[in-house]
Amino acid sequence: MVEKVGLIYSEDFLKYDFGGDHPFRPLRLKLTYSLMEKLKLLENERLELFKPRLATREELERAHSPKYVDIIKKLSIDPSDRTIPPYIYGLGPGDNPIFKGMYEAAALVSGGSIIAADKVWNDEEFKVVFNIAGGLHHAGKEKASGFCIFNDIAVAIHHLKTLKENIRIAYVDIDCHHGDGVQWLFYEDPNVLTISYHQDGRFLFPGTGFINEIGEGEGKGYSINFPLVPGTNSKTFIKLFRRTTPKLLEAYKPDILITQLGVDTYFDDPLTQMGFSLSGYRDIAQTLKTCAREYCHNKWLAVGGGGYLMTVVPRAWSIFLAKMLDIDLPNELPDSWIKEVKEKVPYEDTPYLLWDRGEKVAVQMLKNPEIAKKIMEYSNSLVELSNEKFLPNLNKS
Ligand SMILES: [Zn+2]
Repeated sequence: MVEKVGLIYSEDFLKYDFGGDHPFRPLRLKLTYSLMEKLKLLENERLELFKPRLATREELERAHSPKYVDIIKKLSIDPSDRTIPPYIYGLGPGDNPIFKGMYEAAALVSGGSIIAADKVWNDEEFKVVFNIAGGLHHAGKEKASGFCIFNDIAVAIHHLKTLKENIRIAYVDIDCHHGDGVQWLFYEDPNVLTISYHQDGRFLFPGTGFINEIGEGEGKGYSINFPLVPGTNSKTFIKLFRRTTPKLLEAYKPDILITQLGVDTYFDDPLTQMGFSLSGYRDIAQTLKTCAREYCHNKWLAVGGGGYLMTVVPRAWSIFLAKMLDIDLPNELPDSWIKEVKEKVPYEDTPYLLWDRGEKVAVQMLKNPEIAKKIMEYSNSLVELSNEKFLPNLNKS
């Protein structure tokens, strides 16, 4: 049987738009889809495209309070409604400005993740489905946060729970920001293992994701956090990732893997201070693919996430999709895409090659061998912590 790969996309995703010079620009998705198309990934015989649909109220209310869903709906119809104090719900100028149509825009992202979950769970042909608009991991039960209105990941997890009783779900989040929304929503749930790798919360929003956040009650031991030192590069990260995630998944034995693939860990990202390169994402994709196959019944639901360089997000997610399809991409970027980037992103340096010079980060590290050594030692200590503290909890279950 041919193993198929699904991609969720619609131009309507571009309506998730906070406007102005907000960093979470819909252009990220448009240029990503365009690059995938121009790299001929979308013509691949193993790839199938799916349109998202709106998540229903019932589906949204599994993750969010009815009151919050109501408020989003009201403000979506009339953003100037003064009867609602928006800041109580995390809305307003700054990270999560109110915009007309935001209910439908956010519900479409959640619906996309539901369709992806359905395909992976119910259709034997599909081993992995990728919703590039998804990954809104900060939204809470009654709060918008960090550019996230509805938590599509939590909505998809709840949807999966309706498909199989006691389904065991493993969630791995590599976004530079802690996957706080998903963690807190399932903090007491032993059937949802959350693993988040992120820049240390002392130096970055949302300020959580410390090693002592391990879950509560029956969920104790099922929240796992790897806070990373600013400046950690791909090489160091991959070592840590490969020495932790596979073992944790092997011990937990999930029915399905969900990954949040934020790429704001890129060394040049304007919002963060990490040191990843594009080739690092290829290695992460390879590891996740192997993990899904070996430990997660070959069921993998992938969603997007952060990443704030319009010239980087498309390349990174194309690299992920290519790995899902077992395709090696050429280094030369398509001329037509380069032209599009020049027109639409004049404020960023135009890339001509898919793979960047990740050595730039390596060179920086070589210049500071002391710092590089400290980061490596710290990273090794996280591996020990995982083996000695996190892993035994999972082996008990
Ligand atoms: Zn992020």
